[in-house]
Amino acid sequence: MARYVFITGGVVSSLGKGLASAALGALLQARGFTVRLRKLDPYLNVDPGTMSPFEHGEVFVTDDGAETDLDLGHYERFTGVPARATDSVSAGRIYMNVLEKERRGDYLGRTIQVIPHVTNEIKEFLRVGEDEVDFMLCEIGGTVGDIEGLPFFEAIRQFAHERPARACIFVHVTLLPFLAASGELKTKPTQHSVKELRAIGIAPDILLCRSEHPIPEKEREKIALFCNVRPDAVIPAYDLRSIYEAPLAYHRAGLDRAVLDAFAISPAPRPDLRRWEDVIDRLENAEGEVRVAIVGKYTRLEDAYKSIAEALTHGGMANRVRVRAEWIDAEIFEREDPSPWLEGFQAILVPGGFGERGTEGKIKAAAFARLRRIPYLGICLGMQMAVIELARDCAGLADAGSEEFDHDAGRRRFTPVVYHLKEWVQGNRTVERKPTDAKGGTMRLGAYTALLAPGSRAAAAYGATTIEERHRHRYEVDIRYRDRLEACGMVFSGMSPDGRLPEIVEMRDHPWFVGVQFHPELKSKPFAPHPLFADFIRAAVEVSRLV
Ligand code: GLN
Repeated sequence: MARYVFITGGVVSSLGKGLASAALGALLQARGFTVRLRKLDPYLNVDPGTMSPFEHGEVFVTDDGAETDLDLGHYERFTGVPARATDSVSAGRIYMNVLEKERRGDYLGRTIQVIPHVTNEIKEFLRVGEDEVDFMLCEIGGTVGDIEGLPFFEAIRQFAHERPARACIFVHVTLLPFLAASGELKTKPTQHSVKELRAIGIAPDILLCRSEHPIPEKEREKIALFCNVRPDAVIPAYDLRSIYEAPLAYHRAGLDRAVLDAFAISPAPRPDLRRWEDVIDRLENAEGEVRVAIVGKYTRLEDAYKSIAEALTHGGMANRVRVRAEWIDAEIFEREDPSPWLEGFQAILVPGGFGERGTEGKIKAAAFARLRRIPYLGICLGMQMAVIELARDCAGLADAGSEEFDHDAGRRRFTPVVYHLKEWVQGNRTVERKPTDAKGGTMRLGAYTALLAPGSRAAAAYGATTIEERHRHRYEVDIRYRDRLEACGMVFSGMSPDGRLPEIVEMRDHPWFVGVQFHPELKSKPFAPHPLFADFIRAAVEVSRLV
């Protein structure tokens, strides 16, 4: 049976609870334990799949096809443990399950209430797969005191109460604000936040205190005394230059030690931190820099492309260079010539996206990369735009476009080189979709196999001809245009096993031009950079050497 660590937050949101959870997972692994991380989100959407990236940042997709919170991306990047659909839940999903059971008649005439029915549903979620790992780390979204979060806090309280002593611990992440006027760190908000937790029956074992300034010993003792935790369980968490410093920094601050102490695990296995020392060495001892332009739509919010930003960093680490990613709003290229904007970059990336806004600009970015022979990586929508660009410019389809932007099928604006995918094979079953289907959870989602053409750039980068990558899309490049596009120098180098769905395209006579229908960024890790990102950055380094 797994031991449980519950991670909660107080004082303010955005304290980096997800990162702290991920780093703790990595530290427990370094001490030889197996871990799984989970996220419980109190909002009412069933999953973040239908939310705008502006609302919620990136949607992280699991192998088994769930659309989840971006914190699951941190968990995977730090632990390498592939997340599952059962690692992410929202209040909306919990209520939906409860209400479906009610409609089925499972509750046999009883009144359905938050306690016990909703809390039981949450506890059931917590238990899934508990025999598989040593530690289950469960992060509660939001901050203590939020109305929506209450059933979750009540459920974890009950859960710990029902388990043997020392089977569950609570880590509370708080903030120590610094008052410049008096030159002091203030502990009162932390005290209040802990008080709030205690009022709902949860006594934290460990406090992870975010602070921009060193926490003096006497403040640490004060927090320990007033919050009723041991002084060595008050862990300072200072701002870091890179998120990948978190495991080593938290280890030095005593976080994993405090966790093992709280579980009374003794003697504590010694940690092997070499993986993280190597990661930091690669980050800090990079030689040179390449500039990558990311031409997208949600450029105002970096979290919208979190995994891409991280995968680029990993690609840099693989080549021991720093990657400077700069975000450019694709719409600018609909008004202005992209050349002055894009000259000076060693690589161009067009990420995934939804909807027509900005797509003509992305097409111009793809054209610039193709004609100027700049390394180009097109991801999902970025691949579709590259194909449309070539179709228009070379394949004689001046009105090529995507069905995604043609809402009135009776009066077509485009030749649908990218069409609405209505049927595909998943394992040994056929999935069917209609344009009128509900939007939530109906895309082609999760891991699918692709077969790569031997000798292609993709096969060389992967060092394999069978790969598995994660998908999240509704539209697809139409295979019927393959011959015409191949005549223009495009190679369909990755295909679904049935040969019907293009998964990777690349340009034959180009230094590096690759479009992928899937999201490689979701599987990249600092200690295992994704092969496509590593090769993309390698190509960018070559460009920088030429000039
Ligand atoms: N909007 C496109 C589609 O649904 C691309 C999706 C994406 O980039 N993730 O196919």
